[in-house]
Amino acid sequence: VGVTVLVIACPCSLGLAVPIALMVGSGMGAKRGILIRKGEAIQTMKKVKIVVFDKTGTITKGKPEVTDISSKGKEQRLLEIAGSLEKLSEHPIARAVVEKANLKKYLSVKKFKVLRGRGVEGMIGTKSAVIGNMTLMNEKKISIKGFESDIERFENEGKTTMIVAENKKVMGVIAVADAVKEDSMIAIRALHERGYRTVMITGDNERTAKAIAKQVGIKEVIANVLPEDKAKKVEELQKRGFVAFVGDGINDAPALKQANVGIAMGTGTDIAIEAGDLVLAKGSLIGVVQTINLSKATFRKIKQNLFWAFAYNVVAIPVAVAGLLHPIIAELAMALSSITVVTNANLLRRKRI
Ligand code: ADP
Ligand code: MG
Repeated sequence: VGVTVLVIACPCSLGLAVPIALMVGSGMGAKRGILIRKGEAIQTMKKVKIVVFDKTGTITKGKPEVTDISSKGKEQRLLEIAGSLEKLSEHPIARAVVEKANLKKYLSVKKFKVLRGRGVEGMIGTKSAVIGNMTLMNEKKISIKGFESDIERFENEGKTTMIVAENKKVMGVIAVADAVKEDSMIAIRALHERGYRTVMITGDNERTAKAIAKQVGIKEVIANVLPEDKAKKVEELQKRGFVAFVGDGINDAPALKQANVGIAMGTGTDIAIEAGDLVLAKGSLIGVVQTINLSKATFRKIKQNLFWAFAYNVVAIPVAVAGLLHPIIAELAMALSSITVVTNANLLRRKRI
């Protein structure tokens, strides 16, 4: 009786129940390009209520292209100034401008400065030159007179507009478009169907942000957010419930850390990936939906496993104590309980994620 009780009370299946389910779950994730950098993330994910998305590079492809230039006849000079300034910046928008300008010779720029989340400036010859968004123009007290309607039109089309000014006088406007990723809309719709609240957050202006949000079906937009403020906005949303933040850029890293679950795009910057709890290797937002499904399925398995592991012991221990169980049967029962737990965990693979 003593041996039987010892054998049957061995909690081996109990020890296996959780890790084996997590192992199968993370393996399934890996196969779909979901890399789990922090194990807890898969647990926290099922409590998430709000999913916040960065715009550029997350919802959109992050490969902007110049689509329109409005300059009242000074296009060549405009491109020379814009191209020379942006040559020194690493922003994706800057790359688009440089490509469009396609200059053979760059003007020399002195006192170059990146104004984070707003634009860039420098001295070209004896003149000051800036290129950036409306916030920057307001800051520098540069009037955009004559270009208001063009700017409004471009922005309503979902394009990001940059204003170029020389010696505080506006020269023209360059608009860039960044196409939405093909499956962003499907992913957002799937999240809404599952009852999630979605929010888009961006450093871009309100009109452009709203136009892009509309294309993918997001209703809540937080625009004109400076890089250092993204984490703060996430913190505010956290008062309403658990927040997952999905982002790709250097400026998203603090927000990825602040969120309950940080989901980085594998196609994004190393800094974002380093800050994320989960990485979506394919860079598709469908991965967010899959992560949620995976998290829920894995947890269901953990619960089932714990039930089975306990059930064997709860039923068998009293029987063993009563002296009604042969040690060999106890051995078999114990082996069977471990097999049940492992098999049950592996059934997770059948699940469509
Ligand atoms: P996002 O959150 O969309 O990645 P950022 O915070 O990097 O945006 O930039 C916000 C806005 O600042 C851009 O939409 C653009 O209008 C302006 N901006 C930033 N960098 C530059 C640059 N190098 N040249 C011109 N405009 C810029
Ligand atoms: Mg981005």
